[in-house]
Amino acid sequence: MRMPAVFAGHGSPMNAIEDSPYRREWRALAKRLPKPKAVLCVSAHWETDGPAVTAAARPETIHDFGGFPRELHELVYPAPGSLALAERVRALAPEVRLDPERGLDHGCWSVLYPMYPDASVPVVQLSLDRGITGEGHLALAKRLMPLREEGVLVVATGNIVHNLRYYDPRVREPYEWAARFDAKVKALIVEGDFAAIADYDALGPDAELAIAGPEHFLPLLYPLGMKAKGEEVAFFNEAVENAMSMTGCVVG
Ligand code: ZN
Repeated sequence: MRMPAVFAGHGSPMNAIEDSPYRREWRALAKRLPKPKAVLCVSAHWETDGPAVTAAARPETIHDFGGFPRELHELVYPAPGSLALAERVRALAPEVRLDPERGLDHGCWSVLYPMYPDASVPVVQLSLDRGITGEGHLALAKRLMPLREEGVLVVATGNIVHNLRYYDPRVREPYEWAARFDAKVKALIVEGDFAAIADYDALGPDAELAIAGPEHFLPLLYPLGMKAKGEEVAFFNEAVENAMSMTGCVVG
């Protein structure tokens, strides 16, 4: 059986602990999906020169943010690592190095904690290689596709629209450019034009505002790159709040 592959818009780290429709949907999604043997997570918050995977037996919980309530700063997500999965990723993509020091960042655990609160599923995180283009990320994802046949759930987290310069948590209404770009990317996903998504710089002025830095956008390319011919893509959490899109999708 082939496991689905997921992209989740993660938004604020508070989604880890505070009730929200997004958090509820992540929980419901985990219940709908078959239970994975392990999760391979790709988050906006770990960028490296050359790709790397976490290889610690007990990856630490990284609190890579400031100014949130103590409860969030003290949250520990004790999911075990999986050296076997880290090695398997390297076998499929030999340029990936194993990092025994690195833990899990909030882009990863703020989604996985609601999905698997008992931390029973081992987690390996794959970094975002700064040295490759969108097309390169798609190609790397494609090489990692066999993991889906091996009980591994890919959970990539970022935001299709993410511009903190314009973000105001008091404003719920989306900016027009943000709503337009979210809709544009969804349409390209439905059409299966992933090459156009990978070449996001060519998507016009809305893309310039929506993709303030590529790191929140690039994780989307992992589940898309792992889509087999004829598979469906379903959307969830379809919402844009001023300059941030929470839209997620499930491939397969
Ligand atoms: Zn983030």
